[in-house]
Amino acid sequence: MLADPAHDQQLVVQTIREFVERDVAPVASGMEHRGEYPHALVDTMKELGLFGLNVPEEYGGTPVDYTTFAIIFEELSRGWMALAGIIGTHLVLCDVLVRYGTEDQKQRFLPRLANGEPRGGLCLSEPNAGTDLQSISTLAMREGDIYRVTGSKMWVTNGRHGQIFLLLAKTDPQASPAHRGTSAFVIEKGAPGLTVGRDIDKLGYKTVETTELHFDSFPVPGENLIGGTEGLGFKHVMTGLEAERINVAARGLGLSRAAFDEAIRYAQQRVTFGKPIAQHQSIQIKLADMATKIEASRLLIYSAAAKKDRGERCDLEAGMAKLFATDTAAEVTFEAMKIMGGNGYSKDFIVERLYRDAPLVVIGGGTNELQRLIIARGLLERYKQT
Ligand SMILES: Cc1cc2nc3c(=O)[nH]c(=O)nc-3n(C[C@H](O)[C@H](O)[C@H](O)COP(=O)(O)OP(=O)(O)OC[C@H]3O[C@@H](n4cnc5c(N)ncnc54)[C@H](O)[C@@H]3O)c2cc1C
Repeated sequence: MLADPAHDQQLVVQTIREFVERDVAPVASGMEHRGEYPHALVDTMKELGLFGLNVPEEYGGTPVDYTTFAIIFEELSRGWMALAGIIGTHLVLCDVLVRYGTEDQKQRFLPRLANGEPRGGLCLSEPNAGTDLQSISTLAMREGDIYRVTGSKMWVTNGRHGQIFLLLAKTDPQASPAHRGTSAFVIEKGAPGLTVGRDIDKLGYKTVETTELHFDSFPVPGENLIGGTEGLGFKHVMTGLEAERINVAARGLGLSRAAFDEAIRYAQQRVTFGKPIAQHQSIQIKLADMATKIEASRLLIYSAAAKKDRGERCDLEAGMAKLFATDTAAEVTFEAMKIMGGNGYSKDFIVERLYRDAPLVVIGGGTNELQRLIIARGLLERYKQT
């Protein structure tokens, strides 16, 4: 944790903001349209310590509180959401290792992950299981000192450039309820039996690759079973995803802010019927609605993060923040496009990229339909009639 959170938070945020404005914003759209991987930007992100944001100092990390964590994701996404994607699932892997890893696992993986070399990711979703992770079919069967993993994972962000992954697999396919048969592993590329499949061609969130990974009797050392106990994989993964909801919500906020900034600037310059469009009441109503929802997103995210900083459970609040901020991102990026007319649809302006990136935050990190279920479950628990 930071020594003087308020002061250190300002310094960290200022540094990231400068990085985004100086190095990221001027090149993001061009690189995204050309499909160029941002190697140099990733190198700077390593130097800034962004790959170890939730790793304790004793394991080589540069830890920040959750509020600062959220603001960093917001700022990166304001410039280019793909950069937040490169560290997003990497940090979920770190989070799970910090919380549940054995001391040996922490020593072996965290110091390397914290400096971004190697990069990490998550292997949870499969061709036939995403929201319903209990129904995964990838198997990890014990054979002496190792587990043999067989199955296919889908949608693995960092699948090509990453080397270390959090893998959810079934160690007891007959278990009931099914989640008790799942276990989480930290796996590393290298041994035969792991093939990177195709890069999935996507609407947005380009440049950061999303791939299939195929496992065929891939050997995983027994000591890579997270926490050393089978049957707890679902719990480990779900806890990691709670923190991810805050980072995905913050990405949505970053997209909304970037789109709003572009739209309000444009609205004061573009003249129709003898006056700037910002003077037409219907455009003013759009700007007011957009800004209000952005502010509400910000407050929900910071409030959920503050709760987590106090060590309280925040699945309900993180779910609300994720739901609202990402639905807002989808709405605000489209409204910004409408305000900019034909130019909003053109690749000469950033709004088309923001608009294409927004649906991912609605779907990823647990779909918004799932967030509603999480929120409702939390509410029913809180308001339980005895
Ligand atoms: C660009 C991108 C990157 C990704 N990166 C990763 C990654 O790095 N690692 C990883 O493991 N996964 C990753 N994912 C996968 C992502 O987490 C899943 O796409 C997401 O969880 C939804 O799962 P699904 O696509 O299988 O949809 P499904 O689970 O099939 O859902 C389909 C629809 O049904 C709805 N639905 C499902 N169940 C219910 C229910 N009980 N009640 C109401 N509605 C329901 C869903 O909300 C959705 O609208 C990524 C996805 C994308 C698009």
